[in-house]
Parts: sequence; structure tokens; C-alpha cells
Amino acid sequence: MLKAINPATGSEIKEIEEVQLSQAGRIFQQAEHAQKEWQEKSLKERLAYYKTLRLLMASKLDQITTIIHADTGKPKAEALATDIMPVIDSIQHLEKTAETVLGRQNQTTPVLFWGKKSYIEYMARGTVLIISPWNYPLQLAMVPVLSALAGGNSVILKPSEITPLTGKLIELLFKEAGFPEGIVQVAQGGKELGEALVKEKPDYIFFTGSVKTGKIIQEQAAKDLIPTTLELGGKDPLIVFDDANLDRAAKAAVWGAFTNSGQVCMSTERVYVQRAVYQTFVRKVQELTMNLKQGSSLNDDIGSMTFPHQVDVVKKQVADAVNNGAKLAAGCIPAEWEEDSMFIKPMVLIDVNQDMEIMQEETFGPVMPIMPFDTEEEAVELANGTIYGLNASVWSSDIERAERVVSKLVTGNAVVNDVMLTVMNPNLPFGGAKQSGIGRYHGEGGLRIFCHEKSVMTDTG
Ligand code: ADP
Repeated sequence: MLKAINPATGSEIKEIEEVQLSQAGRIFQQAEHAQKEWQEKSLKERLAYYKTLRLLMASKLDQITTIIHADTGKPKAEALATDIMPVIDSIQHLEKTAETVLGRQNQTTPVLFWGKKSYIEYMARGTVLIISPWNYPLQLAMVPVLSALAGGNSVILKPSEITPLTGKLIELLFKEAGFPEGIVQVAQGGKELGEALVKEKPDYIFFTGSVKTGKIIQEQAAKDLIPTTLELGGKDPLIVFDDANLDRAAKAAVWGAFTNSGQVCMSTERVYVQRAVYQTFVRKVQELTMNLKQGSSLNDDIGSMTFPHQVDVVKKQVADAVNNGAKLAAGCIPAEWEEDSMFIKPMVLIDVNQDMEIMQEETFGPVMPIMPFDTEEEAVELANGTIYGLNASVWSSDIERAERVVSKLVTGNAVVNDVMLTVMNPNLPFGGAKQSGIGRYHGEGGLRIFCHEKSVMTDTG
């Protein structure tokens, strides 16, 4: 049994049944069986289920929000805006675009092959395994599930064991929306179940989680040449030039660093500010941070952490920074944290340097370390100076300069004069460079990746 624990209160909500490891093979058999009929349906027929699901979700917003709030400890407004609405938006986007993206793509034929026609066809891969995390337990599970289903695949979803209420919710939503039996199976369990499912040799694996687990999965998948998408961690920089709108940049940095208590793969984890405006920027951020309201009610800005282990990671990194000379401009040192509480006060750290753990390793918590820089070249070098490359944010009133800097950043995404936004646009492929991952979700590629691309040339003579 998995225990659903409300991280904000520490109380157990209920127990959720786990799938036994020995059932992994049977789950795959059911998925293969269901997929055969699903791929025979036209894409239009498949998308009809999407509309039912979308309307169902829209009619249950309150209920869904309450479940995610209890499962993760994030405020309800945050659950609604950043976990639930993006799913509804993605469903609608797929309804509008999937036929164009996955339909036959006619191509021109070179003169050498006159009399023949050329096209590309997108064929289902078969059974897709999706392994999802706990920080956005609805969005990071449902968006890949729906993308894979559109391509005619069946899906086995292994959601995070840390947020089992949302896993159960997803199962019920697909059932209630009338999707055919076996086409989406939600297999609840821990990492051992994830391992067992990977060993069943799915036709594709879509994984979102830590770099460490991503590498384990990639290694296992490589044995059978199973293609994978890996959406992994980040250490996203935010660069503020001296001509930036500092009020807006400070607000964006606070949102970017502290939303979801910093438990976001594209959280603002490092801030670099040009020296002339460094002190002013720090003061602005300090004031905004100290005014944030933390708690579980509707008016609160920040909720609790979700996963106890993550509190330890944050504690270790902050303690290391402070021991090496960093100072807190907001928040308090780990020794002063309330014992066993999952509510960590947002922290602003100054006097940090690039070699500290807090500037190199993913924190996944409410910490914003800020460091000054002098030149554009230095900012680029600092921003690129980690193993990660997910997202970045660049602030300047000179858009040409900001976009020039963006071009030099080794990241999968970048935002000028705002934070995080790319993931909110389902037309834009989202994913990482370097150790932040392989492959993309969203965009045309994020949909086509779940299909074999078949090139056909037909002699029409
Ligand atoms: P996090 O630290 O964010 O929980 P993980 O990478 O550990 O990140 O977990 C993300 C997802 O991967 C979860 O659903 C988890 O159960 C699953 N998982 C963890 N380890 C493995 C593994 N070795 N094989 C397959 N799935 C795994």
C-alpha cells in the first residue's frame, strides 16, 4: 500500500493500492491488446475522447484542485494555475493541432524520380511507458500521456509514489471520460515498480525526474535500444543587466525562485546581476521575499515542500553555502528552521560564489542565490557554467543584447524579460540541453516522437 500523506499537515489521508511487481507482464499484455483497436481508430475518433476529458476536468476543477493541494502541499491557486489549467490547455491544443501534425505530410519528389509521389506517415510505436514525478503530478503525467495516445499508442503510466492521490485521480478521469479499457493503465508503486516496467521492454519510455534516475533508465533502455525522452533537472540562471526594468525583474525572480517552493525543474536557481545595479536589485528582492505569505490558505503565496527528502537536500546546500561565507538577505539558516516542518521560509543568499554547491547542484527548494557580474561575456560564462541547460531568463531593455546573450546560452529554452514562460506555450518544444535531458515535450516534435516516422515513395504511373 502507498500512503498518501498531506505534506503540509503530516497527516495520512488514505492508503492507495500498489501494483505488485509480478503484475508488470500482465499490464503490458493488456496494453498491447488495447493498442491494436486504438490504432485502428482514426485520429478524429481518438480526439473525440479528448473533448469529453476536457469538459469533465472543467466540471471538476474544485475537486481536482483539492486533491492536488492535499497531495503536494502547494496552495490551491497554484495547483489550479500551474498544474491543472496547463493540462486543459494542452488537451485543447491537441484537439486543434494533432491532425495536422500527425497526418500524412506530402513532400515534393526530386526531378530524378518524376512520376512518383513522396510522403511521410506517422505510425504508432505501440506501448509507451511514462514515468512521472511529484512536483507537478497532474501536468507532467497527463501531457505526455495524451501526446502518446494521440499517436495511436497505449500507455502505462507510473506516477510518483510521493503523490498517489493524483495518480488515482488520473486513473479515474480517463475511466470516467470513457477511454477504452486498457488503453491507459495507471500503475501505482515505487521505484522498484518503475524498474520492473522498464524491464518489460516498452516501445518507448518518456521519463520526467532526476538526472540520476534518468541515467539509470537510459542505461537499461539502451540494452534493448528502446528510445527515450528524458526530462531532467535544471539549475536555471536569471541574468539582470544594468538597463533592465529592476522592479519587474525582481518580481519575476521572486516568482521564478519561489513558486511551488522552488520545486520546479525550471525554477530560477541562480541570479546574476550586473554590478552597478546589484545592491538595488538585492534590496528589492529582499523586500518582496520578506512580504511573501506562507501557509495553506487561499491567500498564501507559498505552500509547503512536498517530499521530506528534498528538505534535507535544501538544508545541506544552504548550510554548505553559509559555512563557505554566504549570507542570508532573507529567510533563516537551517539551524533556525522549525524542526520537522515542511514549510521552509524562502531564502535569498548573497556573497555566494560560482563554485558553491548552491550554484552548481540542483536545489529544488525555495532558495535564490544572487551574485554580481561585470561584463556580458562573464554573464554568459557564469550562466553556462553548470552541467545543466534547461531554461534561462535574461533581462535588459536592449532586446537585441538580450537575444544575443540568449543565442550564446546552452539551454533548451530561454525567456527574455520574463521567467519560465516557454513551457506554457504548447507550440514551443520544451526540454533540456546538456544533462537537463534528451528530447522535447510540446511542439510538433513532442507529439511526433511517440510515432515511427515512415517515409514512403509511390510510383503512381
Ligand atoms: P524525484 O527525486 O523527483 O522523486 P526520481 O527520479 O527519483 O525523482 O523519481 C521520478 C520518478 O521515477 C518516480 O515516479 C519514481 O518512482 C521513478 N523511479 C525512481 N527510480 C527509478 C528507477 N530506477 N527505474 C524506474 N523508475 C524510477
